[in-house]
Amino acid sequence: MIKVDNVSMRFKKREVLEDINFTVESGTKVGIVGDSGSGKSTLARLITGLAIPRKGQIYLNGVKTTEYRRKEKSKVVQMVFQHPQSSFDEKRKIGYQLEEVGRIHHRDYSKEIKRLLNVFLVDAKLMDRYPYQISGGEAQRLSIIRCLLLKPKVLIMDEPTSMLDVSVQAEIIDFLLRVQEKEKMTFVFVSHDIELVSHVCDKIIIIDNKQIIEEGTIKEVIEQPKSTYTKNLIESFE
Ligand code: ATP
Ligand code: MG
Repeated sequence: MIKVDNVSMRFKKREVLEDINFTVESGTKVGIVGDSGSGKSTLARLITGLAIPRKGQIYLNGVKTTEYRRKEKSKVVQMVFQHPQSSFDEKRKIGYQLEEVGRIHHRDYSKEIKRLLNVFLVDAKLMDRYPYQISGGEAQRLSIIRCLLLKPKVLIMDEPTSMLDVSVQAEIIDFLLRVQEKEKMTFVFVSHDIELVSHVCDKIIIIDNKQIIEEGTIKEVIEQPKSTYTKNLIESFE
């Protein structure tokens, strides 16, 4: 379970998130939606433990993110970054980096990597490239593969398909949903696209002006939005 307990965050003196509270039950999928600059990536980084809140705490399965040892934490939570190249060390070939993490949980890791490359429609030739030699969409898919090889209990995805064509996006989402169900993973899916989130997630959280302005099941939020902001968002895709 993820518990975000009264979290505030600021950069320099500017408050970005204020008194954020929510929980995500294990094995469920929550979407975080908001405008550009609303603090979605900041929240994703806080949950992953890559940033420390100015106020409040975040717990993953009852343990504060700040109290995990690095190796231990990597089995609990992984994040697909909005800028996916950041998942990789720029000085080493992609294939090497996937093998390195693949080894941790898979006896036949080469086979598992091949299988995932296939599923995510990634050309195996990219294994010989350096991160700067691949496209944004390729990096996005490889970054998802890297996370899945690590078999985390919680997967935080920050706009994971934003650089992909709609048809590829649909296939990737489909596969992710199957993995989620099979492994009973907890998903946090960050996106500015409420329509996409409503296909992927069970619950939705909307952030505006530093705070959560709407929270509920997809049905609740789509059928009975409380705020004008959410109503406008929904109208834009209907
Ligand atoms: P987008 O949809 O464009 O990705 P977002 O909702 O993910 O936006 P964040 O990246 O979380 O937004 O940024 C929230 C605010 O915090 C923005 O105004 C951003 O400029 C600011 N910000 C983010 N990271 C930093 C940082 N490291 N230092 C200073 N300001 C930052
Ligand atoms: Mg962002």
